[in-house]
Amino acid sequence: MHSHATRLDGIPPTIFTQMSALAVRTGALNLGQGFPDSDGPASVVEAARSALAQGRNQYAPGPGTPELRAAIARHQQRHYGIELDPEREVVVTTGATEGIAAALLGLVDPGDEVAVLEPYYDSYLAMIQIAGGVRRPVTLRAPDFRLDAETLRTAITPRTKVLLLNSPHNPTGTVLTGAELQLVADVAIEHDLVVVTDEVYEHLTYSGHTHVPIATLPGMAERTLTLSSSGKSYSLTGWKIGWATGPVDLVGALLSAKQWLTFTSGSPLQPAIAHALDAEPEWPRELARSLESRRDLLCEGLAAAGLSPRIPEGTYFVTTDISALGWTDGLAFCEALPERAGVVAIPTQAFYDDVDAGRHLVRWAFCKQPDVVAEGVRRLVAAELRS
Ligand code: PMP
Ligand code: GLN
Repeated sequence: MHSHATRLDGIPPTIFTQMSALAVRTGALNLGQGFPDSDGPASVVEAARSALAQGRNQYAPGPGTPELRAAIARHQQRHYGIELDPEREVVVTTGATEGIAAALLGLVDPGDEVAVLEPYYDSYLAMIQIAGGVRRPVTLRAPDFRLDAETLRTAITPRTKVLLLNSPHNPTGTVLTGAELQLVADVAIEHDLVVVTDEVYEHLTYSGHTHVPIATLPGMAERTLTLSSSGKSYSLTGWKIGWATGPVDLVGALLSAKQWLTFTSGSPLQPAIAHALDAEPEWPRELARSLESRRDLLCEGLAAAGLSPRIPEGTYFVTTDISALGWTDGLAFCEALPERAGVVAIPTQAFYDDVDAGRHLVRWAFCKQPDVVAEGVRRLVAAELRS
């Protein structure tokens, strides 16, 4: 029996694998792991098919193909007025997951502290530890999951190097407001921090809420490394084409690590994503519009089932409090759910250091076809969900 390296000690297996396996094993409807059950734009799939046929099958340049880097720079310009040099300020990554890994490996020394919004996406926990960093959670507390100035300031110490931000926020659905972003900017500038910001849900925001990249705030462009991914915006999660943008020093630090992780990302998919960004610019907003009605359908169903939902402002997740049904532990609830209702969800406590702050919370995904969401709702409303 061989043991794993100590750098992996205490990192639990990803909850997504565990819960998707539970769905497969029980035949339950999977409202857990966040992936859509319909494909992205047909013209983008066609662009990939033709890139495969036209011999785009050898290594792409390490930082990404020139056409995709240029399309990413145009995307940032068009949506946010951010000007980037595609040669030096844009790197293509193998999904945002590699972007997160390469950013942390490229920027964090052993002992450096990383302040991170909690609940956090689970790869943050793993990669901060693998990089040798020390996690300092900044908890967004139920029921409204807003960023609190005092909580943020308390998490910052003289050892803090990076503030790891995520908005629109998985799992809570919070979209940081202008005032919250300004608070982060003030703290980052005051303490000379690097902000790594995961904006994979940038286009998936709902009525009354808009995503503002923190890099657009005064004084922030030079200290912000922005990550995103085509997976969420174009419902192509399996393609794993993401990107990092920002100033040369930060993008360079990420690239220094990325070149040893994968060297380069999938060649034929890169021209196809360039096509997506340039030729299908409205597709993500239309996806958001269709997701908004599914959000409402799921939230109404959850409320009818006695699970008070927090209406998400962005992402494709909704968080509920299970305590009104007599449950105290979301993991026990999620383990019982396939048998009780034929549905799988995610226990939010997997995303907390302060497990007690999230023990009573469960996350549900609504990025499924409307009839699948409706069937999930029917099952939940019909089921006996009391503990
Ligand atoms: N960050 C967040 C907040 C996510 O929810 C996800 C989910 N996929 C990722 C990063 C990973 O993105 P990718 O699939 O592009 O690696
Ligand atoms: N981002 C997706 C979620 O939060 C899943 C990604 C994964 O399985 N690692 O559900």
